[in-house]
Amino acid sequence: MGTGEPTPGALREFHDRLVEAYGPQRWWPTQDDHNPRFEILVGAVLTQHTAWTNVEIAIAALREAGPLTAEALLAHDDLPALIRRAGPHNVKARRLRALCEWFVARGGFEAISQLDTATLRRELLALHGIGHETADVILLYAFSRPAFVADAYAFRIMERYDWSSGARNYERLRNRIEAVGPVDDAPFYDELHALIVAHAKARCHKSRPDCGACALAMRCPQRGVETTRSSRSRS
Ligand code: SF4
Repeated sequence: MGTGEPTPGALREFHDRLVEAYGPQRWWPTQDDHNPRFEILVGAVLTQHTAWTNVEIAIAALREAGPLTAEALLAHDDLPALIRRAGPHNVKARRLRALCEWFVARGGFEAISQLDTATLRRELLALHGIGHETADVILLYAFSRPAFVADAYAFRIMERYDWSSGARNYERLRNRIEAVGPVDDAPFYDELHALIVAHAKARCHKSRPDCGACALAMRCPQRGVETTRSSRSRS
């Protein structure tokens, strides 16, 4: 059955079926539960194109080297070496520095929290190395703003679910989902993103999705799934 257009009820059902299948996810994973917000900023940059286990190692190295604050990170001469386990370390060190400089110049969490969501998103997107996905992860998890993270997992599942088609466009999918999502309900988007990641890893694999055991199968037209299978068998 094709669904085509997401509706408030259909998005809620999509979310609820995934909660039923995987349980509450309670992201974002941090090492310091008492002061997690700056760690979320750091993790959002370090996780770009990098497995989370390597991000955790890099964050642990930063913690060992000193307090996890913007000022301390800016003072590390050896920042690239400290985060070397998290992928291209020179590139990510430049991105982290840009984020920290902005954070300090803007007056830290208290002052930045006064910004409205559109302004905050715009300022994050203007920073070196911060793209749409990283900006929305920061908005959602560090500043509790309702934002849909339209990452590659979301595109994969929503294309198959028939809620996204054509050339991938981050802002189009984000706006489409937010238009039918609950207003001012950051916890909903927080769980939705985490559940999408869980579902992509557990069932809706890039190749050969496990549709037979999928909690969304009743409503999913599985668009493109046969193409994926036949192109694999041809290769
Ligand atoms: S039915 Fe298959 S294609 Fe659709 S969401 Fe589930 S695993 Fe993915």
